[in-house]
Amino acid sequence: MANTYGRTEIAVIGLGRFGASVALTLARQGFSVMGVDNDAKITQGLADELTQALVFDATDENALRAVDIASFDTVVVAIGADFEANLMATVALKAVGVKRVICKALTERQQTILLRVGADKVVLPESEAGQRLAMELANPNLLDRIPLGREHAVVELSVPDTMAGTTLQKAELRSRYGVTVVAVKQGESVTVAPPADYVLAKGDLLVVIGTNENVFAMNDWD
Ligand code: ATP
Repeated sequence: MANTYGRTEIAVIGLGRFGASVALTLARQGFSVMGVDNDAKITQGLADELTQALVFDATDENALRAVDIASFDTVVVAIGADFEANLMATVALKAVGVKRVICKALTERQQTILLRVGADKVVLPESEAGQRLAMELANPNLLDRIPLGREHAVVELSVPDTMAGTTLQKAELRSRYGVTVVAVKQGESVTVAPPADYVLAKGDLLVVIGTNENVFAMNDWD
């Protein structure tokens, strides 16, 4: 069933803090979300807000088939502490034919194993949040960061006051930091791929792409 935006159904397995947050955020945006947990108290607490909240063991392939899990476009496996259950659920989901399985992992080793057994994407929420906080602390101008794989990121940062009136060419961001400016935001207006003679103004926000290391090094940009 499509949601109000014409998008599709999602199932979230494991409704701890992370899984519940994914499920509720999507449900509040109008998605059809099925939540699954093997603890009935947990599903009861979320039943009002989710399209369906079911209690079963997600490592059980027959139980997964019984709810026709393969008809969901994306299934998120958000089981953290019990890695064996996370792994078995992931293998079972791929075995019954779910196209896109996204798993939560606690360590990079778990991430590698989950990818090997067929997970389509594996997120490491704790280390990603930690990296993000470290970047923010290291660079007060940094407003937002979207990781692109393990090594790259797109970041949004405010232009230091001392750079107002300077062209992008003179700012030499590529030669100084090895980063590329993707866009400049000025209030509501966005200039995509700004030209070298673009003059930076106070209050401009730059959207920049680069390796984590290079983006991190921009903390001395002033
Ligand atoms: P949090 O997101 O709160 O940090 P966590 O990483 O500690 O959670 P767990 O508490 O281990 O993760 O698991 C999240 C949820 O997954 C729990 O509510 C748990 O009941 C559920 N769960 C664990 N094993 C299974 C399973 N085999 N089938 C279905 N649900 C499961």
